[in-house]
Amino acid sequence: MIIMKKDATPEELENVIAEVRRCGLKTDVSKGAFRTIIGLIGDEKSIPFAYFSSLPGVKEARMVETPYKLISREYSNLWQAEGLTREIKVKDITIGGDEPVFIAGPCAVESKEALMKIAEGAKMAGAQILRGGVYKPRSSVHSFQGLGSAGKDEATEALSWLKEAGERFEMAVMTEIRGESQADLVAEYVDILQVGSRNMYDQDLLATVARKGKPVMYKRHFGASMEEFLSFAEYIAAEGNKDIILCERGIVPVGKGKNFTRYNLDLAAVPVALKETYLPIMVDPSHATGRRDLIYSMSCAAMAAGANGLMIEVHTNPAEALVDASQMITPPELKELINTCRQINKLVKKH
Ligand code: PEP
Ligand code: MN
Repeated sequence: MIIMKKDATPEELENVIAEVRRCGLKTDVSKGAFRTIIGLIGDEKSIPFAYFSSLPGVKEARMVETPYKLISREYSNLWQAEGLTREIKVKDITIGGDEPVFIAGPCAVESKEALMKIAEGAKMAGAQILRGGVYKPRSSVHSFQGLGSAGKDEATEALSWLKEAGERFEMAVMTEIRGESQADLVAEYVDILQVGSRNMYDQDLLATVARKGKPVMYKRHFGASMEEFLSFAEYIAAEGNKDIILCERGIVPVGKGKNFTRYNLDLAAVPVALKETYLPIMVDPSHATGRRDLIYSMSCAAMAAGANGLMIEVHTNPAEALVDASQMITPPELKELINTCRQINKLVKKH
């Protein structure tokens, strides 16, 4: 990383950037309230730091060893006040601000009528963002794969319902991009692009999604350490897109007997991510537990841990949900949850 002097001129900055490019690396320039920092993207071993330290306008040039740099707290502390979380703006919603943000909706988009009903219920319950899978990642090829898997026309139709629901109920909308070939189409219709747990490690997909220039909801893989999760989030940032919403959704359970939940919700991921990075982090208690009777308590716990928001699967008729029926809650249940979580957030933020 290269720290510029406070009084460095634009020409001096340009010169340093050109020198970095000559060494075969890319740059990430952050102009903060305090000073300008040049993050280096690529192998820093080919950078002669002593030479860079001597260039006009440079205060300091040094190697950063961590696998994630551009999203790190260490990096943001150089150009903004300590402890600030990145505020990601979507429509009139701020993710990472003082108020928690709630994403709600069905696991899969099933029909226009069902989606509109759920959207209305989610909005009335206080959710600001509508979710719904058009391309579903499923463990079995014989299960329902989402309407989008039937073809481009079907995908376009389902995506247009999402967009329409967003407009009608004044919500932002989000859906998952399961593969690179879906990115262009999906990005035309939704406000936030979701990368699912199973694709956390797909660096080509991450780069493709990042280049769409929209906020990315990035879910932790159920077998990933925090270091891997954050290191792969860096692939999105390296494309110049820092609007990354991290999402903890549970990791694989341990031991031989029953664990009673689908995954283990790793709530320490929340304060860890908030210390290690300046990105907001949300929690998905629905996929983590797989049980509707546990959603309320784990949502409260996630808020207490400092989460910037929650993603909850909601259905007006849970028993009939085509995917993940066992973890769906209803809009009235969501309303109660959101009210409590807002109060918990106030208490937590005070301290
Ligand atoms: C989802 O949120 O729709 C989903 C499939 O979750 P995950 O990728 O965490 O399994
Ligand atoms: Mn689901």
